[in-house]
Amino acid sequence: MDYDVQQLVWDTTRLYPDSRGPELAADFAAAEADVAGFRSSYAGKVAELDAPGLLAALTAFETLQERLARLGCYAHLLFAADSGDPTAQTLSQRVAEFGNKLGRDLLFLELELMEMPEERFTTLASDPLLAGYRHFLELVRRFRPYTLAEREERLLKQKRLTGAEAFSRLFDELSASFQFRLEVDGEEQELTGEELLGLLHHPDAATRERAFSAFLERHAEHSIVYGAVFNNMALDHGQELEIRGYRHPMEPTNLGNELPDAVVERLMAVTEENYPLAREYFRLKARLLGLAKLKNSDIYAPLAESDRKYTFAEARELVLAAYGACSTAWRPIVESFFSEGRVDALPRPGKSGGAFCMGITPHLPPYVLLNFTGNLRDVATIAHELGHGLHFVLAQEQSLLNYHAPLPLAETASVFGELVLTRHLLEQEGDRQVKIALLCAKIEDIIATTFRQNVLTRFEERLHRERAGGLLLAERIGELWWEENAQLYGDAVEMIEPYRWGWSYISHFIHARFYCYSYVFAELLVLALYRTYQAEGAAFVPKLEAILRSGGSQSPADTVRPAGIDLADPGFWQRGYDVLRELLEELRELLGEEGKGR
Ligand SMILES: [Zn+2]
Repeated sequence: MDYDVQQLVWDTTRLYPDSRGPELAADFAAAEADVAGFRSSYAGKVAELDAPGLLAALTAFETLQERLARLGCYAHLLFAADSGDPTAQTLSQRVAEFGNKLGRDLLFLELELMEMPEERFTTLASDPLLAGYRHFLELVRRFRPYTLAEREERLLKQKRLTGAEAFSRLFDELSASFQFRLEVDGEEQELTGEELLGLLHHPDAATRERAFSAFLERHAEHSIVYGAVFNNMALDHGQELEIRGYRHPMEPTNLGNELPDAVVERLMAVTEENYPLAREYFRLKARLLGLAKLKNSDIYAPLAESDRKYTFAEARELVLAAYGACSTAWRPIVESFFSEGRVDALPRPGKSGGAFCMGITPHLPPYVLLNFTGNLRDVATIAHELGHGLHFVLAQEQSLLNYHAPLPLAETASVFGELVLTRHLLEQEGDRQVKIALLCAKIEDIIATTFRQNVLTRFEERLHRERAGGLLLAERIGELWWEENAQLYGDAVEMIEPYRWGWSYISHFIHARFYCYSYVFAELLVLALYRTYQAEGAAFVPKLEAILRSGGSQSPADTVRPAGIDLADPGFWQRGYDVLRELLEELRELLGEEGKGR
């Protein structure tokens, strides 16, 4: 079989044979009928259901959600693969409107569960028959104080289509439409945004800076759109906080994540206490590159001796071997993504940037999008996304309402997979220079998933808070961004001037508010888990697998407790940074400068 990246596009026919075929049309009709039937059976009656009745309702709800998920994910896959394709555009918009309408018709279920008298709810939630849905029921109830009447909820949801969702779509389409011409290695090239960002790994400093600048400056040229999108997303959120009575911008996210505000604040505060570790690394890297001071376009620069490129087939084998080394059962799961056409790897105009893994339902396999350019970082990204894939597959024993891991745990397998890949590569490697490069890449990666994500979260907080006081000019957003980044970089890194626009391409701010701290959470959790794995070896794998298999059936704290982790322990987060400190020491040792510069 040929795994050449050129040919590696995903096969969506297991979802629907054709975007214009009768199967798709039939499912639209069936979904509509499902929802109408569900509504007529249960609307206004949820509070009167007994345990068997509620179980039947929840099971029916899951069945109809499965169909909606299939439709939604199919449209999303087509759109992500080519947002310029008119069929994909039309279908994606149709599904968004359709899903929104049916979603409004289904709001009553959660609303009626919330309105149920406390005593009755407690009796039902503790009924053994509903044990599999207890966590779902309790999660729904958490939002009770912030929820409005059905008519109001319906209106809010309906207006999202032309509000936040419309701005989000505009953001996606504009960002995916960019094409760049840039001279690279003496040759004028046509590049996508992703390929430009890939050039941050180019050995030549001037090329890195030119590429990053060109990327950022293009965003600056569209300051009217990006300014409007960010302002309106923040205003929209601010209004929602006010309407629902939340106390601060992050509260809905924390509530959904089942994390007390204090735990999140502690996570971020400990991260900030450890910023000096990042600066220590940046100074070290500047020396390795022979620079007086690092620019932020140099952070991912390859070290001279290790400018290694990987073919897609090599990358794939490395990732498979790394997962296989953890568990022989994992390798075939990961391999099936390639053999079953569930990976799209080639960067091209119109295709969504970055990478993602999309879990659909417990009965349909997940899909992975990559933008493979051949450097070590891309290999790590494959390991990352296939970690998500493994997680989704293992969680398939859950029913749909328990399928998706809570956000703070959603990055567990992905980050673990990256770490395992690094250790695998380090063990295989005899060459000291390559080992140094690998360690640097891992440290850079940890910095990117902890410190950088913390900077992003702090910026996002300030964006929302300041927007509450009125319109933010794009320049002001740039200032907030600059100030928050300066907290991390200090005097160790010089930010290039166009980086004032660095906020404008971070899609998490648009797609998933306050998602970024989930990366910090996951990285530190995984570093702690990995330390246990190193101590316990193969005996640890079932504990990790249990976390992954549980999907979203329990709160984060309950999910990780059997693996010996207490999220309420204030010292827990520091342990993750201790692992980073050890990696830095390992690097210094390889460089032959133990203890120097400390
Ligand atoms: Zn991820």
